[in-house]
Amino acid sequence: MKPAPFRYARPQNLADAVELLASADHDVKILAGGQSLVPMLNLRLVRPAVLIDLNGVPGLDHITLSADGGLSIGALVRHAALADSAAVIERAPLLAEAARHVGHAAIRHRGTLGGSLAHADPAAELPAALVALGAELRLHGARGSRTIQASEFFLGLMTTALAPDEILLEIRVPPQGPGWGFAEVVRRAGDFALAGVVALVGRAAGPSGRCESAWLVGFGVGDRPVRFAAAEEILTSQGLDPSAALARAAAAAAEACDPPDDVHASAEYRRHLAAVLTEDAVSQALTRLDGARPA
Ligand SMILES: Cc1cc2nc3c(=O)[nH]c(=O)nc-3n(C[C@H](O)[C@H](O)[C@H](O)COP(=O)(O)OP(=O)(O)OC[C@H]3O[C@@H](n4cnc5c(N)ncnc54)[C@H](O)[C@@H]3O)c2cc1C
Repeated sequence: MKPAPFRYARPQNLADAVELLASADHDVKILAGGQSLVPMLNLRLVRPAVLIDLNGVPGLDHITLSADGGLSIGALVRHAALADSAAVIERAPLLAEAARHVGHAAIRHRGTLGGSLAHADPAAELPAALVALGAELRLHGARGSRTIQASEFFLGLMTTALAPDEILLEIRVPPQGPGWGFAEVVRRAGDFALAGVVALVGRAAGPSGRCESAWLVGFGVGDRPVRFAAAEEILTSQGLDPSAALARAAAAAAEACDPPDDVHASAEYRRHLAAVLTEDAVSQALTRLDGARPA
């Protein structure tokens, strides 16, 4: 199918993009990598009157080191650039790993970080990774700029806190610790995940080896990235005896899910995956904390 007719605009700077966005009625769409929007246009699931192509706006494709040891990443950074960036691999390896799992190579070379966040597919890898990392998003529009935590950005199925006249400009990622894990199940390489879990685990120094922090976020198991707060609590309050606390945390993760039931997998199977993948992601994190590489 072909899209319904629309007017195409390619502003050359941010001010013009913002002005266009503010002056149009709300029947307008921003185009970034086009990997989600173009299929939706072709299927006529969306019929914007105006398409504002962000790709002519300079300064949105940076990956820079921030003073706190973290990263500032422009919204137009492609998934492939995230996956290959030495700075991202060093400072936020969970994010690089998540980017490596998005679709196929062709999609990763066009799709952007900002587009993935704004599109807010609940099975997407990057939103879950950024929620776990405690990232902050910078939004900008005619009324000014604001920042919002990634954990507050996703409001529901493909719904975010972005106002219709706002552009997602930048993602700020705090420095990441060494205890991280990423696990997902896909039917075929390149597919959206049936379910996935990202884990960030911190352990106290000294002989106790106590778990002092845990962030566990599931994707494909709800209408947005789902934080497994009860599972985190089990890990931080009961230590890291793999045979006891981990199994209980995995069960709590499954409990926290409200997965879809569709042609790809039943809700029950996805809940089961959430438990198994939580154990896998946390085990990877613990292995890395021990200075080893997960199998
Ligand atoms: C075959 C296939 C497989 C895929 N597999 C996966 C997968 O496994 N995992 C995964 O996560 N994704 C997958 N995707 C989607 C892909 O990651 C997209 O790149 C991503 O969802 C959207 O990014 P984009 O830059 O292409 O955005 P676009 O398609 O250009 O835009 C998507 C939406 O975001 C809005 N938008 C874009 N940028 C901004 C911005 N800066 N500010 C405000 N709004 C903005 C647009 O208006 C639009 O509503 C797949 C896509 C295809 C076609």
